[in-house]
Amino acid sequence: MPAKRTARVYRPTSANMARLAKVLAQGGLVAAPTETVYGLAADALNAKACRAIFRAKGRPASDPLIVHVGSLAQAETIAEFSECAREVAKTFWPGPLTLVLPKKSRVPSIVTSGLPSVAVRMPAHQLFRDLIRRSGCPLAAPSANPFGYVSPTTAEHVLTGLGTRIEYILDGGPAKIGVESTILDLRDPCRPALLRPGFISIKAIGAVLGQGVIAYRRKVRPRHAAIAPGMLEHHYSPRTPLILVKKLTRQSMGRISTDEALLFLKKPEGLSGKNIFWLTEDGRLEQAAHRLFKMLRQLDDGHWGKIHAELITGNASLALAVNDRLTRAAAVLPL
Ligand code: AMP
Ligand code: MG
Repeated sequence: MPAKRTARVYRPTSANMARLAKVLAQGGLVAAPTETVYGLAADALNAKACRAIFRAKGRPASDPLIVHVGSLAQAETIAEFSECAREVAKTFWPGPLTLVLPKKSRVPSIVTSGLPSVAVRMPAHQLFRDLIRRSGCPLAAPSANPFGYVSPTTAEHVLTGLGTRIEYILDGGPAKIGVESTILDLRDPCRPALLRPGFISIKAIGAVLGQGVIAYRRKVRPRHAAIAPGMLEHHYSPRTPLILVKKLTRQSMGRISTDEALLFLKKPEGLSGKNIFWLTEDGRLEQAAHRLFKMLRQLDDGHWGKIHAELITGNASLALAVNDRLTRAAAVLPL
């Protein structure tokens, strides 16, 4: 028998916001929108509540959570800020940038997977900020989806993925940015390093720091190597096999069967067919990021034999972010 749906979707009325904030303050879980994707939130200082996040998502305990705060002062209660971390936070917060910093002892070790550092961000979404303020808690919140599947950018996506595992979903419409935050390692202020590409570029961060940021490198790892906390290769994956291509040429497309889908950044000129999809009309990267996860879900529901996706060219931050999510979605689980 299929599991019973337990979740209810709440509109952001004042009464509902008060109710959901109370759920959070009392150690419950609430899925809520941020400007990047929908998050599954719990009081970050309540180890039991955070354990429930891992359980609901089926997320391995080795994958640490990002803690969301409402102010720099609140961030400083959970993490050690260097002068330059403060500078970066003041420039980019609220916004889609997560800082990895030395943690303070009050953060339960379940949140950081036992690491001595904590990932912290101040989101820009008004509803999420309102939940932080009303609950009085810093909120740990990974994406609100079963672990490993495509991240949710609407309340409907959350309901589809976690509807039988959680009770409360706040609907704030589609997430504006659509891909997860940029993650910057600032544990050592002299060696800033990009851990995940996102909307905010290392160029912009480097300009504030007055020094270069170590670029992101996806590590090629032997099959059975131990996985360091938070460095999972396989993520954001549709069930349909996803194949990445640098460039889909007419010749290579000729070999692809019509029951396999082709995904482009831009509507390809002179090509048509039921299996041709594109993320944008005009190649705007903001739109590509905004639509990416919804498109992967749509293709996954379309029962295609495979999905062939063309990587985006260039070094723009969102191009790197979209390619990173596509690459991880295409990675095969280690045996
Ligand atoms: P998300 O899946 O969007 O919730 O992002 C969580 C990711 O943040 C993890 O998978 C890690 O890659 C990263 N992260 C969180 N905490 C830490 C940490 N203390 N050190 C390094 N990376 C972290
Ligand atoms: Mg996630």
